[in-house]
Amino acid sequence: MPLVSAALLLEQAKKDNACVGAFNIENIDMAKAVIQAAEEMKMPAIIQTTFTTVNYLGEKVLRAAVKALAQSSPAMLALHLDHGDSYDICLRCLKAGYNSVMIDASAYPLEQNIALTKRVCQEAEKYGAAVEGEIGRVGGVEDELISCGNYTVPEECLEYAQKSGVDFVAVSIGTSHGIYKGVPKINFEVLERIKSLVDIPLVLHGASGLSQDTIRECIKKGINKINFATELRQAYTQGVRSCLEDQKVYDPKIYQREGGQRVKETVMQKMKILSF
Ligand SMILES: [Zn+2]
Repeated sequence: MPLVSAALLLEQAKKDNACVGAFNIENIDMAKAVIQAAEEMKMPAIIQTTFTTVNYLGEKVLRAAVKALAQSSPAMLALHLDHGDSYDICLRCLKAGYNSVMIDASAYPLEQNIALTKRVCQEAEKYGAAVEGEIGRVGGVEDELISCGNYTVPEECLEYAQKSGVDFVAVSIGTSHGIYKGVPKINFEVLERIKSLVDIPLVLHGASGLSQDTIRECIKKGINKINFATELRQAYTQGVRSCLEDQKVYDPKIYQREGGQRVKETVMQKMKILSF
């Protein structure tokens, strides 16, 4: 079926107190893997690309490939820009037909974050697309963005949502991008307070490596979109690496298929955690 709006999927999830998985892809094999997992699990999925992936493959190529794959699939799928770091990258993806974009201006002071997010929202409206913003800083490394992280202030989140017009918002409650060194400490009180104040879908970044219980607790307390990136990259690379141990393998289709298969398994595991 045609690509749907991520906002539509998330509004429904919010009504159902449910959560949609958002899965970062780096190539066509990973996109196919997410779609196959969505089909088998009979669940919607948000396929997302960071700005470095967009810069590497091109937004038009990514959009065309995901659109064509979605067209021949019965799954409900959306295409989203993850961590757009500028107005320009958001605009490029909107022009290419992305259903939604994230503007991550969370490194800026609140007023600047609001101003930039609002500008992207006004542009997205022209394309009938939705916008994800971020308030508070999710720690760790996301592509080239490095951050030490701090909790979202619930009252600032409310002000940000109201003034920017953002459709859904990523909050910082103790998760971190990349690979965890220890056990992350999630601040559920902050999440509950945000949920009680803010009436748009809430997003959790940095979920790779979180336990099933922690993820489900986050969903119970109001998270409607969870991003998975690091574990999918690892799964793909492990699949490729295991294939290449055989020195006789030289056809990229052989190892790419194995990478894709590992991604599909990982996505299905995550989807099982999200549906309870
Ligand atoms: Zn993120």
